[in-house]
Amino acid sequence: MGSIELKSVEKWFGSAQVIKGVDLKIEEGEFIVFVGPSGCGKSTLLRMIGGLEDISRGSLLINDSDVTDHPPSKRGLTMVFQSYALYPHLTVAENMGFSLKVAGVPKAYIAEQVNRAAEVLKLGPFLERRPKDLSGGQRQRVAIGRSIVRDPTAFLFDEPLSNLDAALRVEMRYEIAKLHQSLKRTMIYVTHDQVEAMTLADRIVVLEYGKIAQVGTPRELYERPANLFVAQFIGSPK
Ligand code: ADP
Ligand code: MG
Repeated sequence: MGSIELKSVEKWFGSAQVIKGVDLKIEEGEFIVFVGPSGCGKSTLLRMIGGLEDISRGSLLINDSDVTDHPPSKRGLTMVFQSYALYPHLTVAENMGFSLKVAGVPKAYIAEQVNRAAEVLKLGPFLERRPKDLSGGQRQRVAIGRSIVRDPTAFLFDEPLSNLDAALRVEMRYEIAKLHQSLKRTMIYVTHDQVEAMTLADRIVVLEYGKIAQVGTPRELYERPANLFVAQFIGSPK
């Protein structure tokens, strides 16, 4: 459970075409990174997978069934938002359990899921704190914890570390890699940072103005870039 397939996906905003026919099959459990310069369509593509944007043309399959017209809640995916979207008046445990509470899930199950997520994310000692009493890294963990409790088939991340300072970014990158190893769930991760892409991905999708320039393992892209755009983008150190 967790394969995701895009078939000839296009996105138009009015007369502007920002996604120009994307075909991609993501296997269950893969860590896929969408990378490319600002404005190339990474967020739009991710949001279409999550159901936060309509797909103008083409189709989206999750576990081999067509979900192109399904609302976000019916896709079994979760979008990890940045840590600033935490509720300041709720504790860590309440923040993590909030979506389940709203969905009317029994309290005992919520507590179980929150504890499980807290264990994976090493948040156990902080469950009764409020976001203002946490470090930046801890807040980002809570943001991820809110997704874990829902037990999604896949996680969608849109530049989750871009607000963190450089040292914390490195630490959280490592945490996300560990999370993928322990949960073994499909993850799609958007970044404009080549280093993040190269260190996290099983396969990287390089986007160039709404089109896929190349898909491959970090090593394939590094050793055999398909064109100059990929070579310059992957090769240039930040
Ligand atoms: P990225 O995440 O790679 O920086 P985006 O997916 O945010 O790129 O944007 C891709 C293109 O689509 C950009 O040219 C952007 O201006 C345009 N775009 C994004 N969202 C909208 C929108 N809601 N309405 C019109 N144009 C949009
Ligand atoms: Mg973006």
